[in-house]
Amino acid sequence: MVEQTFIMIKPDGVKRGKVGEIINRIENKGYRIISLKMMSATEDLLAKHYEEHVDKPFYPELANYMMSGPVIAIIGEGTNIIEGWRNMMGATNPTLAQPGTIRGDLAREWDTEAMMNVVHGSDSKTSAEREIKLWFS
Ligand code: UDP
Ligand code: MG
Repeated sequence: MVEQTFIMIKPDGVKRGKVGEIINRIENKGYRIISLKMMSATEDLLAKHYEEHVDKPFYPELANYMMSGPVIAIIGEGTNIIEGWRNMMGATNPTLAQPGTIRGDLAREWDTEAMMNVVHGSDSKTSAEREIKLWFS
């Protein structure tokens, strides 16, 4: 099924100059970029985006991390892209993410409260629709 997902290059990915590499991976895979913009996330937008995490102990540091610089917001499209992009990103913890995945190749753990892992991808059709509306309204 052709579907859309919300992809984000997080502040560490932008700061470390990985935008081109990550966009290359999206395009090399054959997924289509429907829309793309650089922007700064606000406290309010992040609280909505991470609604399932706002009450967790790591949330304040996660919000600081996500506001530490601009992000690249992307709408990607392709057959089963939601699952495909999650596979391309790899595990949440970059230490555990397999080599070959974006997080496995381009990120590592640091001595920080928030886990910096370069990219985001929606985890379901419902999240994808919600996140695209939120970031591209
Ligand atoms: N995160 C964190 N500490 C944790 C779990 C998650 O800092 O213990 C951050 C990390 O940047 C992650 C984001 O919160 O990407 C969202 O967490 P989720 O479990 O949804 O992981 P994802 O869907 O990004 O793989
Ligand atoms: Mg998630």
